[in-house]
Amino acid sequence: MSPETDIKTIKNWLPQSVEPFVISGPCSAESREQVLQTARQLAKLPQIKVFRAGIWKPRTRPNGFEGVGTEGLKWMQEAKAETGLLLTTEVANPIHIEQALAHGIDILWIGARTVVNPFSVQELAEAIKGVDIPIFVKNPLTPDIKLWIGALERFHKAGIDKLGAIHRGFHYFKQSPYRNAPMWEIPIELRRLMPTLPVITDISHISGRRDLLQSIAQKALDLETSGLMIESHFDPDNALTDAAQQISPAALEQLLAQLVVRERTGSIDFQHKLEELRTEIDKLDGELIELLARRMEVVREIGAYKKENNITILQLKRWKHIMEDRIAIGTNIGLDKEFLLLLLELVHENSIQQQTKIFNQKGEA
Ligand code: PEP
Ligand code: MN
Repeated sequence: MSPETDIKTIKNWLPQSVEPFVISGPCSAESREQVLQTARQLAKLPQIKVFRAGIWKPRTRPNGFEGVGTEGLKWMQEAKAETGLLLTTEVANPIHIEQALAHGIDILWIGARTVVNPFSVQELAEAIKGVDIPIFVKNPLTPDIKLWIGALERFHKAGIDKLGAIHRGFHYFKQSPYRNAPMWEIPIELRRLMPTLPVITDISHISGRRDLLQSIAQKALDLETSGLMIESHFDPDNALTDAAQQISPAALEQLLAQLVVRERTGSIDFQHKLEELRTEIDKLDGELIELLARRMEVVREIGAYKKENNITILQLKRWKHIMEDRIAIGTNIGLDKEFLLLLLELVHENSIQQQTKIFNQKGEA
């Protein structure tokens, strides 16, 4: 058996699935009413064949809502009996697996916090040995593709061939609009290395907020993801966990209706390289902006100093020197002279504005 080739497609083990394959349901099971109401509304959407709910919640700090535990599995079972939706939940230890299996959970998923720890993953793989159940493995919190692949391999070695990966974004230390930076090149690389492995995108944990969901879902489809995981709740504003990113089943219906399914976007090697380059551009732009902000800070400091010493803002000789010097440096390393001129003028203009503001401030100096 090779994890690169013999993993079954979703269609293979879930023939009733439609494109795009969507898993939806609340971040956490909270009450019988919430589980049943949400599942009933979701079951009306043709794309939804699998209902998710977190039963044991991995919280960053203790004392938060840590899930309702086994009782919630009974609500999920009831939802399945009524709607026919298949069930999935996160398992993080062998007792969770035992409980989930005892309550008719159809698909298990392994959370991002568990996947970072090979000891835990191994323990789970051993607990599942001999059971024929689909397992989805989320990416680890850190952008480490080897950990992700390692976890998939551990389950594969334990005999699981209905395997999938869930891309839920990565922890990123710099400011980013996302709760978890998507770093698309990583799931693309995973697909390149394991071409038969379904990879679905958890747009909720990437976004962290409702207004980003649509564009991330579209991007995921454009990159030919095999499906989506989207958190939904019958009353999202009052959700006990992840309220900012959950949407109502009605909003989910709209989101799905607005998705455009496009033609193939090129070979996987092409996509991988493109995303790698785009990530590089994103980082460089971030650095450029940070540098500009630092430059403006020094400009303001100079402004205050000039004011203190009663010196005029515009120092023509200095400005002429800057232009000549920076254009020489820039053109020497291949930058266009016209572009440099425009850029420097823009920077200079804003610097003067910043210093003028300081001069116009009343009070000190
Ligand atoms: C979740 O899906 O609710 C969850 C906790 O996800 P993750 O492991 O990706 O943080
Ligand atoms: Mn969540």
